[in-house]
Amino acid sequence: MKVEIIPCLFDNFSYLLVCEESGKAAIVDPVEYYPLSRVIKRLGVELTSIYCTHHHADHIGGLDELCQEFPGVDVAAFKGDAARIPRLTTLLGDGDIVKFGSVQGRVKHTPGHTSGGMCFLFGGHLFTGDTLFGAGCGRLFEGTPEQMYNSLQSLTKGLDAGVKVYFGHEYTLANLKFSQFIEPGNRGVIARIADATTVLAGGGTTTPSTIGLEKQTNPFLRCDIEDVRQKPAEKLLLDATDPVSVFTAVRRLKDSY
Ligand code: ZN
Ligand code: FE
Repeated sequence: MKVEIIPCLFDNFSYLLVCEESGKAAIVDPVEYYPLSRVIKRLGVELTSIYCTHHHADHIGGLDELCQEFPGVDVAAFKGDAARIPRLTTLLGDGDIVKFGSVQGRVKHTPGHTSGGMCFLFGGHLFTGDTLFGAGCGRLFEGTPEQMYNSLQSLTKGLDAGVKVYFGHEYTLANLKFSQFIEPGNRGVIARIADATTVLAGGGTTTPSTIGLEKQTNPFLRCDIEDVRQKPAEKLLLDATDPVSVFTAVRRLKDSY
């Protein structure tokens, strides 16, 4: 499987997944019609599936027009979001398998940012929408900190360090500044800030990252680390001991950072 990164709107990403064997393709997050339609035509692939990570308008803005241009395309999202994502043809639940061409993926329900948040794992490629960002995580619009904590843990647990992480927005550099505030002594964060700065200055993107890099530099995946636990204690005078309380406090600090 090949992945085309398609920057959309101001800082969103759509992804076009191509099964090289069959020439069939799938979209993760139909953010905008024109950039996606153009890439599909340029590559000469057949769009068969659209996977939606969640219902927010900045992630499904191209859905209607894509369905008009490619009638018969399968549109899949969380089953509980049927009323707020139009044109759904496949209702997904946690652990379901999705297929396009000869490519198979597994679906993970990750409530927190929204109640219907979905992530998709295709081999060594993980698509995380607004659940897991480069060095960050989504805001808690429809979920509790505990839900988001559990979603992030179950999403990343057991995945190889080399699995690529494709997220929904280019927020990585700003997130890394917050990582550095939480863990000033984390050398991985300092190195990643330098890398991200170079990549962005050259017109590139920080997506995809890897599970290994996220585990080293993303404070929301490091709530069991002593340095991360210390910060809420210092800033919010909170004695957070268990990882969920640390996560809750770190998320609160990020909301006002
Ligand atoms: Zn969102
Ligand atoms: Fe978003």
